[in-house]
Amino acid sequence: MITTTMPANFAELGLIPPLLARLTEMEYQQPTPIQAQAIPSVLAGCDLIAGANTGSGKTATFALPMLQHLFEQPQSNKTQSSKGNYVTGLILVPTRELAKQVADSIKSYAVHFNGAIKTVAVFGGVSANTQMLALRGGTDILVATPGRLLDLISSNAIKLDRVKTLVLDEADRMLSLGFTDELSALLDLLPNNKQTLLFSATFPEQVQALTQELLNDPVEIQLQSADASTLVQRVFTVNKGEKTALLAHLIKQHQWQQALIFVNAKNSCEHLADKLSKRGITAEVFHGDKGQGARTRVLEAFKSGEIEVLIATDIAARGLDIEKLPVVINFDLPRSPSDYMHRIGRSGRAGEVGLALSLIDYEDYHHFKIIEKKNKVRLEREQVEGFEVDETISDALLALDKPMAKPEGSGKKKRKNKASVNEDIWLRNY
Ligand code: AMP
Repeated sequence: MITTTMPANFAELGLIPPLLARLTEMEYQQPTPIQAQAIPSVLAGCDLIAGANTGSGKTATFALPMLQHLFEQPQSNKTQSSKGNYVTGLILVPTRELAKQVADSIKSYAVHFNGAIKTVAVFGGVSANTQMLALRGGTDILVATPGRLLDLISSNAIKLDRVKTLVLDEADRMLSLGFTDELSALLDLLPNNKQTLLFSATFPEQVQALTQELLNDPVEIQLQSADASTLVQRVFTVNKGEKTALLAHLIKQHQWQQALIFVNAKNSCEHLADKLSKRGITAEVFHGDKGQGARTRVLEAFKSGEIEVLIATDIAARGLDIEKLPVVINFDLPRSPSDYMHRIGRSGRAGEVGLALSLIDYEDYHHFKIIEKKNKVRLEREQVEGFEVDETISDALLALDKPMAKPEGSGKKKRKNKASVNEDIWLRNY
């Protein structure tokens, strides 16, 4: 792991003037920790494995060196690689929204290259024809979701034999979304001699196996916690059945400019939107069943502040980058601790102050403890005035939290009994 003193500005990282000028225009005042730590090694051609969330500035970490390499490569090579449908820099991402977002960021970083570098995004859910047209004559950078990329390869719209840099963005998510087979099919098509950069918020076994297979003596960077200093996590306990009322109360009380609310199922999005609407709050929904056009429209409206409350599922909101999103609310807890990290990473991005709020009732309690344990956080349970948890329940929660005093004799047996008494209190009350 690298823990160097961080360069204070982008010029010290070795970036070239057209990129530096653009960063100044974009008001990037200084590199984020991952940029400061990784960009020099990536520019030097090293493989990289980085533990970083969206919000950490990871896109620029791979995009800027990639653009610089492409811009500096000799013209002769360039023409060669663009003859035929070849790609030089390939970025694999888990979702279409992320594909568009990453491609947009790259295009924006490259404005002072005056069109010298071609970037294309391809993803499922829309017609492949326009994407095939865009790929004619090859592309310098391709941002792709795995399934659509395989389709395009099988129709000869693009070839991977000349890839020089491969980026796996949000590798954990890619694997957890079931892209394992597609990914290994794609990796088989790539040349051995290339630079590989892997970004992942978490490192479950599957990702570790992938890194071992793919990376060659990589530089490793693990951010302590991407934005621990700017993102405040809070958890509110609430009686079961009172979550919607509490949520409506919080939205009205805080008047957040934008709030992103996570639920676990597509129909829960509509259901919650209806319930909020009855309480005078207008919310839009965003999930995988919405057509691509509708998703883009909703997202743009949310980003521009036209929509204040957006209710989304994990898959739909994955990797979204919404500037200055003040609050993310877990109405339903995410299924996995890593999803929790991904969700809360939507707020408090790149130095902005953000709030990640979880609303938990008794049924969520144990699950939340697991999320905390895996993510190595421990949050104080809070209650909101007017929505206090019933006293018996509150006591039971406290008891569940405390390690029990070791009784004489068989400690295990007594502990078990007490926990089940607490369960009984809950069951009686609900
Ligand atoms: P990412 O983690 O790549 O999704 O980036 C999160 C957000 O931070 C994006 O809106 C970027 O434009 C922004 N960003 C990235 N690097 C910096 C920086 N050094 N200074 C300010 N904003 C940045």
